[in-house]
Amino acid sequence: MSVKTKLLKALILGAPASGKGTISSRIVKKYNIEHISSGDKLRDHIEKQTELGKEVKKYLNEGKLVPDDVIIKFMIAELKLSSDKPWLLDGFPRTVAQANALWKVQPVDVVLNLEVPFEVIIERVKNRWVHLPSGRVYNIGFNTPKVMGKDDVTGEDLIQRPDDKPEAVLKRLEIYKSVTQPVINFYQDKDILKNFEGRTSDEIWPKERARRGGERFKGL
Ligand code: AMP
Repeated sequence: MSVKTKLLKALILGAPASGKGTISSRIVKKYNIEHISSGDKLRDHIEKQTELGKEVKKYLNEGKLVPDDVIIKFMIAELKLSSDKPWLLDGFPRTVAQANALWKVQPVDVVLNLEVPFEVIIERVKNRWVHLPSGRVYNIGFNTPKVMGKDDVTGEDLIQRPDDKPEAVLKRLEIYKSVTQPVINFYQDKDILKNFEGRTSDEIWPKERARRGGERFKGL
């Protein structure tokens, strides 16, 4: 008789630049689970100039959400490819329609919600640099690259994302407040939401580890 181990399906919520990427990469490294970031996947398509990439580029550059029908179809297909692995989903779902679509095909076990004040976020994005191929994020001051403008691992160039421009950030925070907040309520109602407050990832990370230790991540 074979015993089927339950694969953890977790997701992380938080405003743009709340540190989701940093916290996610620490979780996936420590627990050896897959990190699935909708934003990284879309940027990858834009970089490779695929049909999808061409379709979504303007939304990303303007800091707007990709339409629900497009992102739902894309992400559900992506998640199917990883259905046999434990994962941490980042950036999807962002609307209640997306949350409902995901819940129908794959209910999640736990939702981590990062709560970082908006003024901290705006300050942070001014200092944010990313390595596009890997999605590694650097913040000057907190998590400074060893060589300015270069990725620590590959030595390749870092860039500032077009959607990190102040107008785009403000737009994304407004969208987050109005559209994504109901997603938090959606998971709160299902009683699987865990809130983590802090101004920096280093402040949030120990809380997350302490809390996780005794609970659902134990089985990993
Ligand atoms: P992120 O890296 O998660 O901040 O995502 C960057 C951009 O990708 C967002 O500003 C949106 O334009 C787009 N995007 C990523 N995930 C989604 C989603 N779940 N729904 C709609 N648009 C998304």
